[in-house]
Amino acid sequence: AKARGRNGYQLYAPSMDGDGAERLRMEGLLRRAIERDEIRLHYQPQVDIETGRLTGAEALVRWHSPELGHVPPVRFIPLAEDIGFIGQLGAWVLEEACRQVVCWEAAGLYVPKIAVNLSGRQFDRGSLAPLVARVLADTGLAPQRLQLEVTESVIMNTADALQYINDLHALGVELAIDDFGTGYSSLAYLKQLPVQTLKIDRSFIKDIPADKDDEAIAIAIVQLGKSLDLAVIGEGVETAEQAAFLLRHGCRRAQGYLYGRPMAPGELLDTWREDDAG
Ligand code: C2E
Ligand code: CA
Ligand code: CA
Ligand code: CA
Repeated sequence: AKARGRNGYQLYAPSMDGDGAERLRMEGLLRRAIERDEIRLHYQPQVDIETGRLTGAEALVRWHSPELGHVPPVRFIPLAEDIGFIGQLGAWVLEEACRQVVCWEAAGLYVPKIAVNLSGRQFDRGSLAPLVARVLADTGLAPQRLQLEVTESVIMNTADALQYINDLHALGVELAIDDFGTGYSSLAYLKQLPVQTLKIDRSFIKDIPADKDDEAIAIAIVQLGKSLDLAVIGEGVETAEQAAFLLRHGCRRAQGYLYGRPMAPGELLDTWREDDAG
């Protein structure tokens, strides 16, 4: 945006337009959101389609700001990345999620795996594996119960991604490729990665069964997973028909509104603990 200076020159002043000012305000609020206790995690169940049993949960961050209201993660995660706050936020998320699984267990709900999203910027410095190691040690969570989700684009756009991923793998944690099919990872590269799970992006699931191309892509990803001996999770499953489609084509695991929206930890406990008992 341009603003006219006193002397009549056009000055580039990004913070002077509406978006810039709004962004600056949000930045200030975001930096204080953790200490002001405005950040929470919600958890979305992941299930075995055939048995209906809980196989894991994905942690999804939520920000409720008294000033801004509910801000969706697609707005504040990129901002956190830009302003160098993602390291702090990501560390908080990781620690909170691992702590939560241990809490649920004490309360009588066993959640086999906890999935945590990683941002590309968290790979920037070599401090990620030490952080993960410390959180596992502090919480006592078994490493194989932590599944870190990274997107293909993060892997392809991060220098030394393979090395960082190998460092994480050496700790015994699992890795999943998120939004699979939307990025550019070459299959040869995929073969080198110590990854255990592919998550079929919601965009290929949402129009099943109407869109035959999407069906073909989903089937191809399941086949690829089979060939490379990887688990496959269908994301964004909203209908029983979509779940049946996945199961029919050999994908046993799903996540989506059909099984539950992301919810507060107490709600997950109530829903799934009672389910276990019954
Ligand atoms: P994602 O990792 O692909 O997460 C799945 C998103 O799809 C979530 O949106 C979830 O609420 C939504 N979803 C799940 N099932 C369904 C469904 O059946 N139908 C529809 N329409 N949507 C469904 P959410 O929570 O708004 O998160 C958006 C994105 O923000 C995430 O996409 C992830 O990329 C990012 N994100 C969320 N939490 C974190 C975090 O703690 N760290 C990082 N780095 N990124 C995060
Ligand atoms: Ca994810
Ligand atoms: Ca995803
Ligand atoms: Ca996504």
